[in-house]
Amino acid sequence: MKSLFAFFTLFLLFSCNEPNSSPTAIASNAEKKQFTTSKETNTPPAETLVMDSTITLDFLMGKFNPNKHSDFIPIENKYASRAGMLLHKKTMEAFIKMHTAAKQDGVNLVIKSATRNFNSQKGIWEGKWNGTRKIENGKNAKTTYPIPKERALKILEYSSMPSTSRHHWGTDIDINNFTNEYFEKGKGKKEYDWLKNNAPTFGFYQPYTKKGAERPHGYNEEKWHWSYLPLSKKYIDQMKLRMNNDLVKGFKGSETAGEIGVVGKYILGINHECL
Ligand SMILES: [Zn+2]
Repeated sequence: MKSLFAFFTLFLLFSCNEPNSSPTAIASNAEKKQFTTSKETNTPPAETLVMDSTITLDFLMGKFNPNKHSDFIPIENKYASRAGMLLHKKTMEAFIKMHTAAKQDGVNLVIKSATRNFNSQKGIWEGKWNGTRKIENGKNAKTTYPIPKERALKILEYSSMPSTSRHHWGTDIDINNFTNEYFEKGKGKKEYDWLKNNAPTFGFYQPYTKKGAERPHGYNEEKWHWSYLPLSKKYIDQMKLRMNNDLVKGFKGSETAGEIGVVGKYILGINHECL
């Protein structure tokens, strides 16, 4: 009888060695406990998004004049390919630090495009929509793609609909060249490799990475487009909460925004590190 008891105890000991009692399971139970506690004390878990009323929907959609916005400053000529561009001052500060570090490694970073508000994005979009501004390979989108949804999808490979562009926020910049090929060999590759390895140290990330299983929707890869995440993360969070396809209007072809699903597929169709 005694030995039967000992056997039974041993059996119980070993049968307790289930996945549930592994160290990871214990940790995740602790996390669950923490989550329950925070719920009980009404403290939202860190990932819960909160509406920030200091950020207006008009700002998020680029419906403002950056020249008159106190957070925006002009980019000095030595950092830019042309005069007159602006950035959010915090993005500018971070870019200057990154530019200095890159220079020390023999890499010159030049801003080719920065803040574009709703109206300037509308100029780009409608130019492509009407065929006055050519899309890739010199094609006229209006004559090549007469069906509105197809035309919009073609333009969306590289250009945002007004009110949905990250360039509205003063956080995103296009650097050195507008083709991926440029960044795949020689000087361009050296620049891209430097950015991949170092830009995150300064807060800059590439939102439009290669498309695939990780990023099935959205704009094509853009090796030139970098975003200052400490700011743009706040704006994308507000977009998640407050933006919808019906708000995308006021330009030619905007009627296709809903059926395409621009908010889910394009605004949020970005590198997961930026979400
Ligand atoms: Zn860009």
